[in-house]
Order: sequence, then structure tokens, then C-alpha cells
Amino acid sequence: MTEYYPKPGLKITIDPRRCIANAKCTTVAPGIYVLDDETGVAVLENEERATIEQLFAGARACPTQAIIIEQYGKRVFPLILTPMWGDGNPVAKGDNNESPE
Ligand code: SF4
Repeated sequence: MTEYYPKPGLKITIDPRRCIANAKCTTVAPGIYVLDDETGVAVLENEERATIEQLFAGARACPTQAIIIEQYGKRVFPLILTPMWGDGNPVAKGDNNESPE
């Protein structure tokens, strides 16, 4: 997880495990969200000149919810964060007590 604090009270987290590097965020907010040359995943640049609209536009454009926005400690986007396969999923962890049918 990479965390950024572009504005007072605002925290942007980019989860590299969720990023599929499809450049949707970089398209809607070019120069703010960019793909890292080495890792290929999205990073935030030029935080000081990013507008709130650009920050949210990038997060909304992301199909995998890799960009998470919090304001004053409360997640504001996405409101529902879909678990990734293997993250807190009892079936993936192998501790599902239900018997298979
Ligand atoms: S839109 Fe999401 S998945 Fe695509 S590059 Fe940006 S952060 Fe990664």
C-alpha cells in the first residue's frame, strides 16, 4: 500500500495488489495518476497541484478499487470495498465450515 496526503485531512491509498495497470486513472487525471516506470502500477505525482476532482476522478475510473480515498480518517471512496480473492474470503482461506454440495 502506498499512502499519500495531498490535502489536509485527505489520504489517498493505492493498493498495488489491486492495480492491473490499465491506465484508466491516468487517462482521467493525467500527470496526477501515473504508471510507475519500474513497477507498472499507478502512483500519485504532483500531489500539490492535484485537485479534489482529479483525485476522485481517478479513483472512480479504477475498475479494481485500487485507489481508496479517506477524509479525516473515514473512507469516502469506495463506500463498499469489495474483498479481493484471498482477502478475508473463508473459501479462499480454506476455513469454510460449510460442506461442499
Ligand atoms: S485505474 Fe486502477 S487498475 Fe488502472 S492503473 Fe489506475 S489504479 Fe491501476
